[in-house]
Amino acid sequence: MEQTLSIIKPDAVAKNVIGKIVDRFESNGLRIASLKKIHLSGADAGKFYEVHAQRPFFGELVEFMTSGPVVVIVLEGENAVAKNRELMGATDPKEAKAGTIRADFAQSIDANAVHGSDSLENAKNEINFFFAGREVL
Ligand code: GDP
Repeated sequence: MEQTLSIIKPDAVAKNVIGKIVDRFESNGLRIASLKKIHLSGADAGKFYEVHAQRPFFGELVEFMTSGPVVVIVLEGENAVAKNRELMGATDPKEAKAGTIRADFAQSIDANAVHGSDSLENAKNEINFFFAGREVL
């Protein structure tokens, strides 16, 4: 059993498809261990994406992630990290396989609907970034 972090990004929250995205997780064997809607500050988003700080798109990424509320979710299940990545699809929605969340709900490489931890170690750190221990069941 693994846990991983998903973020429903501001574009998907603005489109009112939180429930449709959560349904993808639940319909594919993942369970919701915790979930909340928050509005990230610039400092939050900068810290969360600090591995990308030197990338040319960092400023746009922080601006986008703070442009509206997001939903942060702890997903739980067998192979949850890989399963979530598979359900999300490729970073660029134009390259995402049909039927993936990004193919169906994202419009561009920055407004790409969801975030998902890319390793078990990052998942632990990312969950701790957003949730206190008692908030995760
Ligand atoms: P992910 O793990 O699939 O989300 O992809 P990465 O970890 O490589 O990138 C993190 C996030 O940065 C992506 O989800 C995008 O929102 C954003 N991003 C990545 N590449 C680009 C880019 O070339 N341009 C812009 N504007 N944003 C990007």
